[in-house]
Amino acid sequence: MEARKVAVITGGGRGIGAATAKLFAQNGYAVCINYKSNVEAASSLAEEIAAKGGQCIIVQADVSQEAGVLRLFDVVDKELGTISVLINNAGILQKQMRLEEMSAERINSILVNNVTSYFLCSREAVKRMSNKNGGLGGVIVNVSSGSARSGSPNEYIDYAASKGAIDTLTKGLSLEVAAEGIRVNCVRPGLIYTDMHSDGGEPNRIERLKSKIPLQRGGLPEEVSEAIYWLASEKSTFSTGNYLDVTGGL
Ligand code: NAP
Repeated sequence: MEARKVAVITGGGRGIGAATAKLFAQNGYAVCINYKSNVEAASSLAEEIAAKGGQCIIVQADVSQEAGVLRLFDVVDKELGTISVLINNAGILQKQMRLEEMSAERINSILVNNVTSYFLCSREAVKRMSNKNGGLGGVIVNVSSGSARSGSPNEYIDYAASKGAIDTLTKGLSLEVAAEGIRVNCVRPGLIYTDMHSDGGEPNRIERLKSKIPLQRGGLPEEVSEAIYWLASEKSTFSTGNYLDVTGGL
């Protein structure tokens, strides 16, 4: 019997995570949509997926906190069964500023939300997926950012550095678990139309910058979700430790 396909998407209620949840559900995955506080967005997405015949649950959990991550995976075990795909996607951005202005509190908040969360969720996924523990293998896709390469000077180098850490996590973990049936890859989006730019204090940031994008436009969450899906799918079974840029050429 074919193993059940179960995908966990952190920060799946809005933006890139929501587009990814829809795509996995359309392709027959039982999907866990994790969210932190926006229950309305997660619930209406779950209704949309269910109306199209997809299977999903929503789980509130702050994935920057170990207790939240443990509870999230416990609920998935009980309600959907063993995870086969983890999409580490939840992330935050804070107001644009130079390094001299950044408080320790802000920097720590960026790191715990954007880095610790990916480590903790990956840890719980690997425990369940590894064939060393009797698991059936699986795939982890990390959502990093083109900012890991640009460094985002004068805007948010704390955020960019957090994404650099995700690139390194992808490389190290992919090698650590490659012989255990687990692939680990990374998608690095560029400027994508989501709410995140408002959190950075400039809702129209993409309009200001789009002439610098070789394809001359911002990207859609759906265009990122297709790359995530490919890296998680059986079309990419010989790819691990890779980075797929979805940046319109930037
Ligand atoms: P978004 O629209 O702001 O959505 C962020 C999601 O993350 C929300 O669902 C939010 O939950 C969730 N979240 C944040 N902190 C969380 C936590 N501690 N625990 C659980 N959930 C948490 O952002 P997005 O643009 O889709 O970003 C998704 C990923 O893509 C992020 O990793 C981001 O860094 C990356 N990315 C985005 C862009 C871009 O241009 N948009 C570019 C490069 C990379 P609530 O809904 O409950 O608030």
